[in-house]
Amino acid sequence: MLSIFENICIKNKRRCLLCSLPHSENSELCRPCLEDLPWANLTCFQCGLPLNAQRSGYLCGQCLQHPPPYTNTTAAFLYLFPINALLPRLKSSRGLHHHHWMTDCLIRQINNRHQALPEILIPVPIHITRRITRGFNQSEWICRHLSQSLHIPTDYVSLTKVKASKAQAQLDSFNRRRNLKAHFRYQGPAYSHVAVIDDVMTTGTTAAAIAKTLLLAGVQQVDIWVLARTPEPDFLD
Ligand SMILES: [Zn+2]
Ligand SMILES: [Zn+2]
Repeated sequence: MLSIFENICIKNKRRCLLCSLPHSENSELCRPCLEDLPWANLTCFQCGLPLNAQRSGYLCGQCLQHPPPYTNTTAAFLYLFPINALLPRLKSSRGLHHHHWMTDCLIRQINNRHQALPEILIPVPIHITRRITRGFNQSEWICRHLSQSLHIPTDYVSLTKVKASKAQAQLDSFNRRRNLKAHFRYQGPAYSHVAVIDDVMTTGTTAAAIAKTLLLAGVQQVDIWVLARTPEPDFLD
């Protein structure tokens, strides 16, 4: 039986969004849940995949041999449990409250890396028909929070998706590239440094297609900022 004093303490505390226990952290998650998350540390500077290294900042063999068109990938988490269970919920209004603390975790990673910040943020666009059926673009929600916290403006209009593609998850990597070809159009300024914002980066195909489109339009540097990066299938073997 809790005393009146203990009950008042619990009422004044926040409840963790993951385990529902009361806590006094200045965060939506309690400290044990926060520390248990699959943070994307020790990853390749360029593509964001996990590295066998003692610290981040190095490039993986793939990026050394065939560098992608984007310069850097910064992710809050690897796309592993519980992130892989929570992130799909961001695509429905029921799960939108999770975008806030996940974006706070991305900001923590960005600040820890002490990299040059971009001039502008650009959300990965979704096709207009998907936007109408879903009612929102989750990448824009992430951008809005990043913009307010980091004081970097967002360009919501210059990059558009011009043709609805088949669901990427059902395709192999060759067909993913074909499916995305010429599906992004950029009609905006030749910014010096852009960060493209998305919820999850799976194979990097979308990121590469957008980076190529922006570089062709005169943008000088494209970085990718995502809530989660999917590791290669053999990562946990
Ligand atoms: Zn918790
Ligand atoms: Zn790499």
